[in-house]
Amino acid sequence: LGNIVIVGAGHAGTQLAASLREEGFPGPVTLISREADAPYHKPPLSKSFMKDSGAPLQPLKGERFFHDHGIELRLGAEVTGIDRAARQVILSDGTRLPYGRLVLATGASARRLTIPGAGQGGVFHLRTAGDARAMRSALSGHGRVVVIGGGFIGLEAAAMLRARGHGVEVVELAPRLLGRAVSATTAMAVADDLARQGIVVRCRAGLDRLLGNGAVSGVRLEDGTELPADMVVVGIGAAPDDGLARQCGLACEGGIVTDGMLATADPFVFAIGDCAAFPQAQLNARTRVESVQNATDQARALARTLTGRPAAYDAVPWFWSDIGALKLQIAGLAPGSDEDIPVLSATGALRAVWRLAGGRLVAVETLNDPGIHMLARRLLAAGITPDRAAMAAGDKATLKS
Ligand code: FAD
Repeated sequence: LGNIVIVGAGHAGTQLAASLREEGFPGPVTLISREADAPYHKPPLSKSFMKDSGAPLQPLKGERFFHDHGIELRLGAEVTGIDRAARQVILSDGTRLPYGRLVLATGASARRLTIPGAGQGGVFHLRTAGDARAMRSALSGHGRVVVIGGGFIGLEAAAMLRARGHGVEVVELAPRLLGRAVSATTAMAVADDLARQGIVVRCRAGLDRLLGNGAVSGVRLEDGTELPADMVVVGIGAAPDDGLARQCGLACEGGIVTDGMLATADPFVFAIGDCAAFPQAQLNARTRVESVQNATDQARALARTLTGRPAAYDAVPWFWSDIGALKLQIAGLAPGSDEDIPVLSATGALRAVWRLAGGRLVAVETLNDPGIHMLARRLLAAGITPDRAAMAAGDKATLKS
């Protein structure tokens, strides 16, 4: 194989470096990150890191891990090109680094707003530690915040900012929150919870412009409504960082195209994590998934492949989001689902939604019910669809049998 060069030291790249050593890979491993921070957990950026101004980054590995495992970690180093014919990556300072195998784990970047006023001070995105630090240090007093986008990151940030005492409004273009991610039933329960916290949610709200004179002072909606704001947080999704792959002629369709082994059409180049568009076993279609589970499980599968035990990636997808005190967990993928079975607690609160397609269980959403979530992952992995009455009752003992 020769040496392995990994571009990107996020969840996918860092796990791959670690797993290569666990699988006994003896050769040189170089992990390159354009970020200055040692590899860290991204999910807390919109959760605990935002809630507490003194919260540190949570490192993915201990300080000595990379040294002790013979992994060369290059921080603050950007790969700007790939010379596939010479099998070399080119760094921003012009140096060339040869590779035996190259793994692109470049992740995704926050989508930017393009409406007038979007370039002003006080407008923040949340993708990196740098973004989160900038936003956290700009929080002062109990200023008003408008969050643009009712997806996971926007809602998590909204809940944290509200808990810090800010007035928070969420503006969403679609008819409901979390439109691409969860069932209408779950989205409704999340919306109710946000309302209880005093967060105002406006759906079907198109944007006209951001107001202000260099520093943002509000948001004007298409219908002319003006929402005053001292800060705007933009959470409108992420786009795959596939520029390097495109530049060197690798196929990209909504991400870097790979096969089931996470290989690109070039047998020496692989892609994993948020940047990879791979054939998803359950969907039977090419897709890109943004989750810690996807990034780390793809890294583990690729480490086995690169150490001579080829393993197609076919893990059951799962995801979590902490929206304030609400723990939302999702197992499986639901596109194509045509039936939802809700589970309510004795007090009428939503505990779970079982999602079926053609009578077959494809995904399960839970709210503050990790027990059902863990059970759902096992059922999905085994391809089991429990009977409807058992699902609706949400009784774990019956469901396990
Ligand atoms: P990343 O972690 O983005 O890492 C990619 C790295 O590659 C970056 O550091 C990038 O700077 C670097 N890079 C890119 N191009 C180059 C280059 N040319 N040269 C050098 N370095 C380069 N997922 C969950 O499952 N649950 C959650 O609750 C959750 N919360 C989240 C909250 C936030 C605020 C964010 C941003 C994400 C959250 N996610 C969550 C998603 C999860 O963090 C991502 O799916 C995961 O980080 C993907 O890992 P990755 O390694 O593919 O990409």
